[in-house]
Amino acid sequence: MRRKMVAGNWKMHGNLLENKKLIDAVVTGLNGLHEVGFLVCVPYPYLPSVQNALQNTNIAWGAQNLSQYEKGAYTGEISASMLNDFMCRYVIVGHSERRTLFGEDNHVVAEKYQAAQGAGIIPILCVGETLNQREAGTTEQVIEEQLAAVIKLAGVESLVKAIVAYEPVWAIGTGRTASPEQAQEVHAFIREGIAKTNANVANGLTILYGGSVKASNASELFDMPDIDGGLIGGASLVANDFIAICRALHQ
Ligand code: PEP
Repeated sequence: MRRKMVAGNWKMHGNLLENKKLIDAVVTGLNGLHEVGFLVCVPYPYLPSVQNALQNTNIAWGAQNLSQYEKGAYTGEISASMLNDFMCRYVIVGHSERRTLFGEDNHVVAEKYQAAQGAGIIPILCVGETLNQREAGTTEQVIEEQLAAVIKLAGVESLVKAIVAYEPVWAIGTGRTASPEQAQEVHAFIREGIAKTNANVANGLTILYGGSVKASNASELFDMPDIDGGLIGGASLVANDFIAICRALHQ
């Protein structure tokens, strides 16, 4: 179901003490707001403490990655069912840092997406073009291929139980945000592309924007008709910034 949502991606940041301060402040700052879904995706070792702190609040927790495999001799990997042990409702798949730094191609991302759904966890599927691809005019083709790999493996109906995040790689962690119009153009392209196969799925799909969202630019992005919220990296580590972004969507 299409809904408003702000998700934080802590990436590889934090420690037990800092996390507690951050979570306590965010819980207090978002207390009583229920029209928007709030989520933090945290490093694996902190799932138990974050679960403990967030259960019975209006903030969900999730992971930033998972293995495409169910179990076995995969040293260092974490399976979907392990995430279930910590009641993760969401997991990020295909973040551009995983694609570029850890060599995850469209097929692996699709397998991870399917593994998450197989365990009842909602994948947040990240798609987006690099600066070179944008400048070469291939943005739409790149995104179409990233989505097609998932649709080929899991079917278009699988998107009913997924979230898509459009994250232009050139905007992630760079301080350079896509303009609201640039982001809207791609969000509409994603929704219209899916509508060609299944209009109901497209209309119900939550599509988040990610890439240097800040308290100062969140409202103008969230005002766009096909932007349903944000996936927030750096600013999710600063309680007041994350709260302000969440409140910008809430308004
Ligand atoms: C991200 O990591 O998904 C992200 C969007 O990062 P940032 O907000 O820091 O650009």
